[in-house]
Amino acid sequence: MAKPNKKGPTATIDVYCSQCKTQLFKYRKGGKGALVKCFKERISKDFTETPCTCPGCDQSFARDTLVRGTPAYKIMGGKVFFK
Ligand SMILES: [Zn+2]
Repeated sequence: MAKPNKKGPTATIDVYCSQCKTQLFKYRKGGKGALVKCFKERISKDFTETPCTCPGCDQSFARDTLVRGTPAYKIMGGKVFFK
C-alpha cells in the first residue's frame, strides 16, 4: 500500500457533524464511498477548535491516529456526513 499521493485529489467535500450540522472540515477526498478517515494533510480547511471535537455540540467525532505513518483522523461511524 502506497502513501497517499502528495498532490492528492482535487475535489473537495464539505464534512459536517451529523448531530448539529456544523461544518467540521473541507477535505480533499480520494476515492468513493464512506468517509472513514481524513488525512490531515488533505484537510484544506479545519473548522474545529479542539481536534476531533465538534465546535457546535462538543461531541467527539473522530480519533487521532496514524494511517500508514501519516497523521489522520479516524472518523467514528455515523458521527459525520459529507456532501
Ligand atoms: Zn455537532
